[in-house]
Amino acid sequence: MFVVGLTGGIGSGKSALSRHFEALGILVIDADQVAREVVEPGESALSSIVTRFGAEALLENGSLDRRYLREVVFAEPKQRNWLEQLLHPIIRDRIMQKLEQSDSRYTILSSPLLLETDQHLLVNHIIVVDAPEAQQIERTMARDSSSEEQVRAIIAAQMERSERIGKADDLVDNSGSENDLQPLALALHEQFLKQAQQDWEAEH
Ligand code: ADP
Repeated sequence: MFVVGLTGGIGSGKSALSRHFEALGILVIDADQVAREVVEPGESALSSIVTRFGAEALLENGSLDRRYLREVVFAEPKQRNWLEQLLHPIIRDRIMQKLEQSDSRYTILSSPLLLETDQHLLVNHIIVVDAPEAQQIERTMARDSSSEEQVRAIIAAQMERSERIGKADDLVDNSGSENDLQPLALALHEQFLKQAQQDWEAEH
């Protein structure tokens, strides 16, 4: 299976670009969504979190109180490390399951942490989507109703843009409109179909 990793900083346009690939019939696995799935009620990761942090980590309906957990791990790096060591392998396994089940002609893994975790080991090709920082901030503030300060703090905690771009096989410039992404996605799509075909032929 030919797998394309798609990453970029917050508000760079990962989801916007993903929608164009989905419109072309390609399966996009969203690592953020997987990260939410693995802590749903009934999942073993949620039980581990409750064992460590107590029932305070749950909302009344039995689902994870993300805000509470975010505050705890923000205040204590030790807890953050524990949580990451718990969740990253589980997220990776779940992504692998989804890749194995995929019958898409190639599959995209969209992840803000593609390069920071070993998720990049799951992909054959890396796309980095990029927009100027001012646009990243403006678009994220509009999407999440967050403050400029909050978005800047997240950007500061993420991989530096030049380092990320240095790891790209393809760089997508999202400084124009969302519609401008469509022809860029189509050109990449055609390239990936060829690469997936070549990989398949080499293996058969
Ligand atoms: P990411 O998934 O990388 O965090 P999104 O794709 O969600 O970023 O984009 C952040 C916000 O900016 C979304 O509300 C999205 O619709 C909007 N957006 C993305 N690309 C553009 C663009 N080229 N022009 C205007 N708005 C955009």
